[in-house]
Amino acid sequence: MLPQRSRGALSRLTMSSSSPRFYGIRADDDRGPSMIMFEKENSMRRFASIARLIACRLIPQPALRFLQDRFVYRPVIRQKKISVDAPPLFDTVFFEVRSRCNGRCRFCAASVGNDTRPDLSMRPEIYEKVLRDLANIDFQGRIAYHNNNDPLVFKDLHLFVDRARKMVPKAYIQILSNGRALTLEKADALVRAGIDELSINYYNDDLRAELPRVFHEVPRVVLLKYFSSDQVEIKGISQDRVNPKAKFRYYVRRRLENEKLTSRAGTAPNKKIPDPRPRGFCQYPFTQFIVTADGRVPMCCADFNILVPVGDATRQGVMEIWHGEALRRVRGVVLTGNRQSLPTCRPCDFYGVKRPPDTLVGRCVYHITL
Ligand code: SF4
Repeated sequence: MLPQRSRGALSRLTMSSSSPRFYGIRADDDRGPSMIMFEKENSMRRFASIARLIACRLIPQPALRFLQDRFVYRPVIRQKKISVDAPPLFDTVFFEVRSRCNGRCRFCAASVGNDTRPDLSMRPEIYEKVLRDLANIDFQGRIAYHNNNDPLVFKDLHLFVDRARKMVPKAYIQILSNGRALTLEKADALVRAGIDELSINYYNDDLRAELPRVFHEVPRVVLLKYFSSDQVEIKGISQDRVNPKAKFRYYVRRRLENEKLTSRAGTAPNKKIPDPRPRGFCQYPFTQFIVTADGRVPMCCADFNILVPVGDATRQGVMEIWHGEALRRVRGVVLTGNRQSLPTCRPCDFYGVKRPPDTLVGRCVYHITL
């Protein structure tokens, strides 16, 4: 959990270890207490949490922003060859096949009880049209079906996967779900249709809760039907098997339902006020291509209400949208780090890059300013 305040006169730091799994650091400043929780067994993360807490209170914001720009954003921009005039091709296409989720995560505007959008499912014609465009460019990146939704609540998902596998054969097809709607039949149909990865984020505030039985059964009942045991990588259940060269990946991760993540462009129900720490560049408009259930293309995954549409896949081609004026404008803004000039970026505290650059200084600055 990240601290809620970045700077203020620090009056007291208190450490507690009453939980068997987590330490807590409580910082009191002139605006009240804030808390960081971190796992006991992860000492690197523990060090970073403490460094972050102290640095954010001692180093002025403009200096942090300078360091961030110099040692994190710019190296990533160089590494990914990012530019407004010649943007790289997106690495992932997200199809939001149905604008619904069955999860109850408090950080997500799509969760049950929070979603105000109409419940729409993607028409196959829209999907096929986009796949044709991806086939034309021989797309070899990732195709996934999660955006602000859970893919498994879409009943024709396996048919959609089947089309993608046939039309865009070199794509890496990933299913990422909360697992609530997972059954052995669904897992079987998806594996048969040609997915490369099934990842489950199991949301439960009790991190020791027993995993649903179906999670344990998938490898034995489904995966071994289609793969030999040395072709599969499994992580997160008792049968873990690490195999970086695996043909199929099956991952289960435990996540907190009430975790505080990013403000998601101001839409996260449990984080209405964005983290005040400095934020600049954002990579998403250079790496994601998202098609929502009705064919509209938002500027990034955090644009839940599509405040900044950049295209319409029902009448425009994928590359026309990708190189279109709307996305070009967005990219110009996020490349300069001027988040104030976009209604989505203004309240968004996503760091901007998912991973730090490979340098030691870059990694340190990233973790201190995260
Ligand atoms: S900073 Fe802007 S582009 Fe990046 S995730 Fe937030 S809203 Fe999207």
